[in-house]
Amino acid sequence: MAVIKKEEFKYFEFLPGALIEVDLTSRSIIFMNRIAFSLFNFDQKDIENGLALREIFFTDAEYERSIRVAESFGLESYQNHTAYSRYEKQDLYDFKMRKKDGSYFLGECQGSFVLDEHDVPVGARIYIRDLSEQRQLEASHIENEEKYRTLVENSSDLIFLVDTQGVILSINKATTQYLKRKTEEVEGKNVSDIFPAHTTNTIMGYLNKAFISNKSLTLETPMPMTNKTEWISTSVNPVRDVSGNVTAILGISRNITERRRSDERLEQALIDAQNANKVKDQFISNITHEIRTPMTTITGFAGRLKQSLGEDLKPAEEDYFKFINHASDRLLRTVDALINVSQLEAGTLKLNPKRLHLGQLIELLCEKHRAEATEKQLEIEYIQLTDDDEIWYDEHTVYQAINNIMLNGIKYTEKGGVSIKLERIKKQLYVTFTDTGIGISDDYRDRLFQLFTQESEGLTKEYQGIGLGLALAKKYLDLNEVEIKVDSQKGWGSTFTLIFHEHFPLKEST
Ligand code: ADP
Repeated sequence: MAVIKKEEFKYFEFLPGALIEVDLTSRSIIFMNRIAFSLFNFDQKDIENGLALREIFFTDAEYERSIRVAESFGLESYQNHTAYSRYEKQDLYDFKMRKKDGSYFLGECQGSFVLDEHDVPVGARIYIRDLSEQRQLEASHIENEEKYRTLVENSSDLIFLVDTQGVILSINKATTQYLKRKTEEVEGKNVSDIFPAHTTNTIMGYLNKAFISNKSLTLETPMPMTNKTEWISTSVNPVRDVSGNVTAILGISRNITERRRSDERLEQALIDAQNANKVKDQFISNITHEIRTPMTTITGFAGRLKQSLGEDLKPAEEDYFKFINHASDRLLRTVDALINVSQLEAGTLKLNPKRLHLGQLIELLCEKHRAEATEKQLEIEYIQLTDDDEIWYDEHTVYQAINNIMLNGIKYTEKGGVSIKLERIKKQLYVTFTDTGIGISDDYRDRLFQLFTQESEGLTKEYQGIGLGLALAKKYLDLNEVEIKVDSQKGWGSTFTLIFHEHFPLKEST
């Protein structure tokens, strides 16, 4: 059969779907547009070779069904080749169609007859849409919808959909359980039918807020329920139609009564702790006052007594006075350390950084402790390897830190002494304290700077003290951004190194 190259075929090329034309007499395909070619994988050659209509149907049964469909449009005119007068049917029919490679797809077909000059059907045009993708999409929509439905149904949160008038459109299982009502008793009802007036007002207030603001909101409010008040957190989310109008509100509510209660308990615990802290600070301040005042009297009058005894003082009595001094010094140091700790913990300590000579401060402290060291027959040696020893620091806190480290050096050393070295390495000043004392074990090293810890504790404790000195030193050095490093060997001695950085960040306070 000759190929009929009709004028209109060229317009069909541009159709957004696949179009084929069939010659009714030979039942062969005489035209396929580009989309049809790519859909079925046939080409112009196949058509020229007289591609049979049967070839595009997956089974004989489907092919025959297609013929019956076509015949049903205008049976007599078609069979008798008489003029076709009926309106073409625009119904859509799905067929299992076949591609050239034998695979199949689901095609949605719409047909019309091609009439000759006497209105007799001579051909049929079939417009075909590949439904496979759409069907897959539909299937995945259904699957997704199912997934969401399962999620919503199994959620422990109350999930509900309410329209602009307050009519409850849909609720999940958790909501029915919470309301102790069946789904059908709630869906389709107005909020006011379900809840008492005051609760309805609260709910409608929420919904209106979301309608007016057109935004999602989360609100936490006490909800008066039948016989008790529950705290509910609700997020209300406007649901918009395709043109963007808010048509409903999706609400997600959670009972947070327990969480609120534990929040309140926490808040109360914090207030209690703050109060307890205040009481503790007050107690420390009272007790230090109560110890300091009588101690000043004891040391003051002991001094005067020693003076008035003058030359008559026997060597043993001289020792008594020494004991009094040592004991009172020890007591005052302990009290001072306690005050310092509570000051640091309260955060009331104010730094006053200045550019100062570090060497001068170390010398001063060496002098201060020389007598104590000499008494134990220990050496205190200070080596300053640089004159360039000016640096920014807060004198009071750095003084306290170095004082504590030096005191420990003397306290924990029985033979030898403490050697202190100041040197500049590049832009940093290094102060190294080396003692020949008892050393620190590796096990204890990690807790060295913890408040109230000591290496020998309890009954085996050999040295005085309450474990505050190094913890305080560390806190003071941290405030000044000074690094501290420790190196020690049990039985051989310890080395504490302080590193003062040149780029000292603190500025002189005004
Ligand atoms: P205290 O000296 O009052 O016990 P510190 O905080 O000053 O408290 O020191 C904590 C512990 O660290 C001490 O109990 C001691 O065991 C150990 N320690 C500190 N400095 C030295 C040192 N130079 N040599 C050996 N042990 C030390």
